[in-house]
Amino acid sequence: MSVYPFPKKRFGQNFLTNKHYAAKIVDSINIFEQDTVMEIGPGRGVLTELINTKKCRKKIAVEIDSQLADQLKEIYHNIEIMRQDILSFSFEEQYKQSKTKIKVVGNIPYNITSPILFHLLDNSSYISQAVLMIQKEVAERLIAQKDTKEYGILSVLVNAQAQVKKLFVVDRKNFHPQPKVDSMVIRLEFLKSASELENYELFKHIVKSTFNNRRKMLKNSLKKIVNDQELNQIKSVPLNLRPENLSIDEFNLLANEIAQIQIH
Ligand code: SAH
Repeated sequence: MSVYPFPKKRFGQNFLTNKHYAAKIVDSINIFEQDTVMEIGPGRGVLTELINTKKCRKKIAVEIDSQLADQLKEIYHNIEIMRQDILSFSFEEQYKQSKTKIKVVGNIPYNITSPILFHLLDNSSYISQAVLMIQKEVAERLIAQKDTKEYGILSVLVNAQAQVKKLFVVDRKNFHPQPKVDSMVIRLEFLKSASELENYELFKHIVKSTFNNRRKMLKNSLKKIVNDQELNQIKSVPLNLRPENLSIDEFNLLANEIAQIQIH
């Protein structure tokens, strides 16, 4: 039995200590024999241990902390433990090797939740679903409806590609060290990859830059993207609205219209 190193704050290490929740998370992945399962940030292996008991084609775990990765490599011989930053992990390469879309799972580090979500979205053509434990407040933003203060960049970008399902809440007291916030486990089912969305890059640019000026009306925040003449041609959405008033479909309409206007 190896001795665990002290939890490292810089890697957002808050280890789940409650095995009941660990089992609930792993059950939520619904692992089948033909699956490739990838764990983000296995840490001390509370989820890894259970994934190890499941039968499937391939298991991978990506851990940035070399001390923890080395310990996991000693224990798990049927799981490919990769000492790597998940943000530079190539889902494409993995997909080419295993030829099946990847099922992702992880109690992910809170300090890089948004970058991880964006990385998953950018690679959604290689991923079928993700069961993630994230900060409860961030989870609320992912399921937020328009016209609310939680509705923002993450809500629009995630829901444009995935169906988000709230699974269950995990109180902060189930972690070591105890974080300042509660967590929620969610499931993302990727339905549309970025490449299937028309004008996705422009869509993303519009969503980010209008929400970065959340209190401004669209006619003002869009000035970073279109000139006055182009602005006057926009008919798809009323420009006196604010970004939080637009549905995903409306953002899409707007992106498609601006793309058209800019071609001509
Ligand atoms: N799954 C474990 C650990 C959760 S803590 C549990 O539930 O107990 C988050 C884990 O992510 C830590 O092990 C941390 O070292 C790892 N981590 C942090 N940043 C990472 C990154 N960029 N890439 C991969 N793993 C990372």
